[in-house]
Amino acid sequence: MSIKRKAERSKGKGIPSMYIEVRNAYICTICQHTTITVHIHRGNTPFYISCEECMSTAVSFKYKLPEAIMLPEPYGAGLDATWEFYNPFEGVSPVEIPELTKKLSKTEQEIVEKGELLMRKRTDEKPIKHRI
Ligand SMILES: [Zn+2]
Repeated sequence: MSIKRKAERSKGKGIPSMYIEVRNAYICTICQHTTITVHIHRGNTPFYISCEECMSTAVSFKYKLPEAIMLPEPYGAGLDATWEFYNPFEGVSPVEIPELTKKLSKTEQEIVEKGELLMRKRTDEKPIKHRI
């Protein structure tokens, strides 16, 4: 088959679209444990987090993960995100934001002021996905 025909085939309707979760991973500089995160909202995330195993500094893979890791269980590599990034003000009316901000910790307020998402243990909130 010519290269041109191959390209045409892959553009065809017969190829199903796949959607993968917007995930990142952070590797610990001390114990090398990898923490997998997922986005439930869009936004900026930190370059460093605390390792979920030993609380040392874990460094971002900058979203450069194999696509197999982006698929939730039971597909892909069979790994699930253990933490999620979220915007505490998503879907909230602007008039409610000052009151909600007061309920955040000082650290959370600083993170939100920087325009970054907050991080929490994975809930059953639906992750955002992108098409591959
Ligand atoms: Zn660690």
